[in-house]
Amino acid sequence: MLAPLESHVDLAALPQAERLARMRHSAAHVLAEAMLELMPEAELGIGPPIDTGFYYDFRLPRPLTQEDLTWLEERMRASIKRQHAFQMAAITRAEAEERWRKQPFKLDLLKDIEDGNITQCTHADFTDLCRGGHVNQTGEIPAFKLMSIAGAYWRGSEKNPMLQRVYGALFETQEELEAYEKQLEEARRRDHRRIGRDLKLFDLIDEVGPGHVVWLPAGATIRRELQRWIEDLEIERGYQHVITPAVAKRELYVKSGHWDHFRDAMYPVMEREGEEYVLRPMNCPSHIMVYMSAQHSYRELPIRIAELGNMHRWEKSGQLTGMSRVRIMTLNDAHIFCADTAQVEQEVEGVLHLMEEVYSVLGLKDYTYRLSLRDPNDHEKYVNNPPMWEAGEALLRRVMQKIGLNFYEAEGEAAFYGPKIDVQFQTAQGKDETLVTVQVDFHLPAQCKLEYVTEDGGRAQPIIVHRGVLSTMERMIALLIEEYEGNFPLWLAPTQAVVIPIADRHVPYAQEVAAQLKAVRLRVEVDNRGDRMNAKIRDAQLRKLPYMLVVGDREAAAQAAALRVRGGTDLGAMPVAEIVEKLRTERDTRALAP
Ligand SMILES: [Zn+2]
Ligand SMILES: [Zn+2]
Repeated sequence: MLAPLESHVDLAALPQAERLARMRHSAAHVLAEAMLELMPEAELGIGPPIDTGFYYDFRLPRPLTQEDLTWLEERMRASIKRQHAFQMAAITRAEAEERWRKQPFKLDLLKDIEDGNITQCTHADFTDLCRGGHVNQTGEIPAFKLMSIAGAYWRGSEKNPMLQRVYGALFETQEELEAYEKQLEEARRRDHRRIGRDLKLFDLIDEVGPGHVVWLPAGATIRRELQRWIEDLEIERGYQHVITPAVAKRELYVKSGHWDHFRDAMYPVMEREGEEYVLRPMNCPSHIMVYMSAQHSYRELPIRIAELGNMHRWEKSGQLTGMSRVRIMTLNDAHIFCADTAQVEQEVEGVLHLMEEVYSVLGLKDYTYRLSLRDPNDHEKYVNNPPMWEAGEALLRRVMQKIGLNFYEAEGEAAFYGPKIDVQFQTAQGKDETLVTVQVDFHLPAQCKLEYVTEDGGRAQPIIVHRGVLSTMERMIALLIEEYEGNFPLWLAPTQAVVIPIADRHVPYAQEVAAQLKAVRLRVEVDNRGDRMNAKIRDAQLRKLPYMLVVGDREAAAQAAALRVRGGTDLGAMPVAEIVEKLRTERDTRALAP
């Protein structure tokens, strides 16, 4: 009998994080025990605790099924009921090699452990190679559930065999476990990748490339509406829109300093006729070229150059997520060239007001402002110019305090050339993401030797404010899909209404009704398929169309339609002219309804 290495642990006295880690790690042992019962030839990988529970990796003779998970879970509950003690013991290398002689992954792990440090853990009749950190006995494993099966390479390397990973969720109480399951369900329901596919908004096609979004007609419609809107808002505010090429000579980015700080995130260089070209990772150098294309006097400043600019960034394949992390994106970008810090303050204030207006129209509420500062000790990542940094950071802080925005500060999050304000959003998956930024930049103007003519005929250097408002079209629309769960407000909805004739003989009248809606540029369809009316209504609801206009004999006689709202409300028969007016107003005011 082996002498136990671990004495009794008082779980209640431990910090919660450690207590949970012990429970989750112990549950992984019990899972492996059950797996060997199900498939004695199973080869065991590792079984660590994770944030929400635990997992265990196995190489198995066949793929696991949902039924297997149910079976495994039952066996685990039986083992837990029997309150088996966890017993640690030190063993020699020879003993370990003998015990796991049929377990190649355990033997592989063994290579990394020094002689004298080899320990095992036994509960019931199951023994695992293990460093320790358990509960006392299986009965102390609380609420858990086996959640899913995924593929995972041994030691995370694609050169190694692919194993099957079983995930379990584990919390201290049943209530916490249920709350977690609910949160997962909510995230799944709101996931823009699923909704985007269901509503045919966009696609990611292997032949086109990972992270290269293909906008389908419906998604392109949403994007077009957003672009027209933001361009109009910007033009009203004195922005001048330009169009600059997405390919430029590498030299441009060497001059701007982007090549030095950013080349790993760029697509590889293209060479032709002795020149090197790159896909642009950022629009700043292009807009600096626009500024430099003419001489500017102090009277013209601030100059606000805007563009829906195409950018290319080599994100690692593993980082790509639907439309929220992509490689080719279009940023609602602008660079404001200011004469002095007083202008910078005014312009940043204007940008923040525009953001507040835009997010309020879109109905976005779950965001916070973050003042991103440099890490004062990191001179490699950040341009070394302390007075410049201090001036910029103080200025951004002052503006946010003046407007009364809630914000927090974070060191080490600035851009390489200057401090910034980040707008932080929560994704449906619970991740904190930066949607857009406002940056004050004294560095690039110096780097690119920008100047303007001062009042007394001298030369001075402008300061650049870099800003986005709508973010990239990709990230914003991913966010909106999740925010609305696909129920876009009327002005953004790809199809705004569908006219549903009750019988075939009502199709001509349905076409007439549709024509009246189209006359005011509403996006409308006629569902003239041979299906029953109820099937057509259900279909329109699945497509999340804002309005359904049902027409039959009575409606045709009265120049009316029975109006149904997405979500089920039936407004009854209304004159078509009235419906047109209602929808038009809703669209033009960008109401969040219906
Ligand atoms: Zn263990
Ligand atoms: Zn920029």
